[in-house]
Amino acid sequence: MADRDGKIWMDGQMVDWRDAKIHVLTHSLHYGCGAFEGVRAYKTEQGTAIFRLQEHTDRLFNSAKILRMKLPFTKEEVNEAQRAVVRANKLESCYLRPLTWIGSEKLGVSPKGNKIHMIVAAWAWGAYLGEEGMARGIRVKTSSFTRHHVNITMTQAKASSNYTNSILANMEATDDGYDEALLLDSAGFVSEGSGENVFIIKDGVVYTPDLSAGALNGITRNTVLHICKDLGLELVQKRITRDEVYIADEAFFSGTAAEITPIRELDRVQIGGGSRGPLTEKIQTAFFDIVNGRNPKYAHWLTKV
Ligand code: PMP
Repeated sequence: MADRDGKIWMDGQMVDWRDAKIHVLTHSLHYGCGAFEGVRAYKTEQGTAIFRLQEHTDRLFNSAKILRMKLPFTKEEVNEAQRAVVRANKLESCYLRPLTWIGSEKLGVSPKGNKIHMIVAAWAWGAYLGEEGMARGIRVKTSSFTRHHVNITMTQAKASSNYTNSILANMEATDDGYDEALLLDSAGFVSEGSGENVFIIKDGVVYTPDLSAGALNGITRNTVLHICKDLGLELVQKRITRDEVYIADEAFFSGTAAEITPIRELDRVQIGGGSRGPLTEKIQTAFFDIVNGRNPKYAHWLTKV
């Protein structure tokens, strides 16, 4: 990804893509303490717009707060940086990656005194789990890796270090021929995917794990809560067991990258009819209407670039 044309916003300046570099003694590279966001911009009839920009920026600042990193920019500057990056790269729809990390002044475990840096990059990125997965549903494996306990690396921070757990789970699942992993919490209850929140549907009711299961407080998850309300669907946040997923009528993942991706199988057990379920399709359609600017009720979630 490094050798290409384009612009990256880095510490307040727009720099050439190839020049957006850091030193090998960067603290975060060694110990993993950093925070990032995954944001999407969509092509709408009113022009390209970033979906729920403010919520993503708020979460980034919360992640930094949890990790005791003081960002040297204001939320307004971070919002503006994201709009500027989309414009500078002439992108109609894209994925955005704001990232903040600890610099290379010194390398002891304590980062006190080191500079805090930030970039925003943006590039075109289609369906994260594949177009076919969006239409037919994906195959998922329960991970042998446990999701972070809530008192380990802090599960409400979108912390870089949390993603070693995601990488291990995703590689295990995909090496075994599945599309994605489902992680359980330290008590054995369903938590989330390696980069997605999870939902199941049973007898017309939508269920998702409450956040005490260690899942990230997903912005798409929150969007789904609004969609369910609008569609008159009851939504319950509760502890969910692995076998509740097996016997669900439908299941899906939600995430900025994954959007709404149906799940058709868990551990080789077919879920419901073994394809995208009818309520999942309704929720997916409502989601794409919102992000593409076709639902005026949520126009305030779209920030034009
Ligand atoms: N859980 C994890 C571990 C994630 O990485 C993501 C993606 N950010 C999500 C859930 C979904 O969050 P969001 O909908 O805000 O993208």
